[in-house]
Amino acid sequence: MATIDGLPPLREVIRDHELVAKKSLGQNFLLDLNLTARIARSAGDLAGSDVLEIGPGPGGLTRGLLVEGARRVLAVEKDPRCMAALSEIAAAYPGRLEVIEGDALEVDVRAHLTPPIRIAANLPYNVGTELLVRWLTPPEWPPFWQSLTLMFQREVAERIVAKPGTNHYGRLAILAQWRCDAKIVMSLPPEAFTPAPKVHSAVVHLTALPEPRYPADPKVLERVVAAGFNQRRKMLRAALKSVHPQIEALLEEAGIPPTERAERVSIEAFCRLARLVAAA
Ligand code: SAM
Repeated sequence: MATIDGLPPLREVIRDHELVAKKSLGQNFLLDLNLTARIARSAGDLAGSDVLEIGPGPGGLTRGLLVEGARRVLAVEKDPRCMAALSEIAAAYPGRLEVIEGDALEVDVRAHLTPPIRIAANLPYNVGTELLVRWLTPPEWPPFWQSLTLMFQREVAERIVAKPGTNHYGRLAILAQWRCDAKIVMSLPPEAFTPAPKVHSAVVHLTALPEPRYPADPKVLERVVAAGFNQRRKMLRAALKSVHPQIEALLEEAGIPPTERAERVSIEAFCRLARLVAAA
């Protein structure tokens, strides 16, 4: 059957290059090119952007990004076995796909990218969360990227978009939503992947805001939020004792009842508290 880009179907690519999925690299591949094109579309208007893709594997999402018109794709893949398959895609899209073989946690990609930059990835859970936290905590804001379109286990996706007063609300929600708009744009059942993982997945799309939603020093905010959620069952006056000796008075000044628990406090209120802590 013809594919959307005229290149061989991904099943053939995997067979011809003997890309048996490795558990150690978290390899669950997307083989449906219509689906990868849909994920690429959810990343926004790619035509004028460089796209950083982490973990292209056999190239399903890479092909989706290219078909959907990405100006250039820079793909970082740790598995050397995938390089030959990715070279075939690069040959079909001259000058539009650069592949770096390496660990995304170590490779410095900035010099290879020209703004505007979007990031898209279907990554193993642990690497994905670590990269997300790094991308959300750059030395300066706005960050080097405009948007992140990332596949996660559904439970992690729900933690990213969670609202106060819900079970999933915590550090990740605050980190993400303080300086980004974040939403789940797609849900995928295990059968969408080969091999099928145990859990459902979801694609989260985050757009960087030009400036934080509410002013606060990122380091102080992170300290307050971390302390609040490290002991999420405790009242804030106890959980935040280590943050400041007069925390109870500061909580009251911020309009947060000292008997409240972190999971019920809005991002705006956390920022108010962080400003008072920084000034105290
Ligand atoms: N993007 C492909 C797809 O959607 O079919 C593959 C997705 S698979 C879930 C994750 C990919 O990330 C694998 O190709 C794996 O080799 C790669 N990977 C795992 N850890 C990595 C790391 N630290 N740096 C770069 N790539 C990594």
